[in-house]
Amino acid sequence: MCRHLGWLGAEVTISSLVLDPPQGLRVQSYAPRRQKYGLMNADGWGVGFFDGRVPRRWRGAVPLWGERSFESVAPALRSHCVVATVRSATVGMPIEVSATAPFTDGHWLLSHNGVVDRAVLPASLSAESVCDSAILAAVVFARGMDALGDTVVEIAAADPLARLNILAADGSRLVATAWGDTLSILRRGDGVVLASEPYDDDPDWEDVPDRHLVDVIGNHVALTALG
Ligand code: GLN
Repeated sequence: MCRHLGWLGAEVTISSLVLDPPQGLRVQSYAPRRQKYGLMNADGWGVGFFDGRVPRRWRGAVPLWGERSFESVAPALRSHCVVATVRSATVGMPIEVSATAPFTDGHWLLSHNGVVDRAVLPASLSAESVCDSAILAAVVFARGMDALGDTVVEIAAADPLARLNILAADGSRLVATAWGDTLSILRRGDGVVLASEPYDDDPDWEDVPDRHLVDVIGNHVALTALG
C-alpha cells in the first residue's frame, strides 16, 4: 500500500503539505504509522498540482527522503489543488516513473493505494504503464469521475481481494474512496486535506469508514457509503 494526500483550498506551498508536517509523506516514505500492507514506501514518489487548470507532475522512482532537488524547490511551488504520493510497489509491478502516481488524463490527477488483479480490468491503450494502478486509472478516467463509486464496486465484485483506495482531483474537486485501507480527512480553515493517514496529531483529523466515497467541492465534504 502506498500513501497519498490530496489538498483543495487556498494556495499553499507543496512543502507545507508534503515535507514539513511531522508525519507527512516524507516521513511516511520510511515510517508510516497506519500502513497495513508493506513497511515503507521507498519505490518512488509523485507530486501533482494544478497550475491554474493545468495539471503538472513531478515524479521520481527513488525514495522521497533522498530527493534534495525536490526539497529545495518545493517551498517555491504553490497550488490550491494537489495530489501527492509515496509508493510501495506491488510485487511484479515495474519500479519506474511511468508506474508512479499521480496518473493523469490531462484534466484529472489520480492516485491508487492498493492492488487489483489486472485480469479483471478492461485492456486500456491509454494506460501510462503496465502497473495495475496505471491501468485502473485509465479505466476510471474512461468511465468518468461521477461513476467512481460504481466503478470501484464493480471492480471489487470482479476481484474480491482488490484494495481500491483511489484519490483524484481536477483543480476544483477532490474525490476519494476508502476500500480496503485507511483514509482520513482534515477540515482546515483554509481548505480540506484527504490523506491515507494523518500528517500530524491534530485532533481534528477524522477517519473515513471503509467502503465510502468522499467528495470535496469547495469546503463542502460529502461522504457516501459504497456497495
Ligand atoms: N499496486 C500499485 C503499485 O504497484 C500500488 C501499490 C500500493 O498501493 N502500495 O504501485
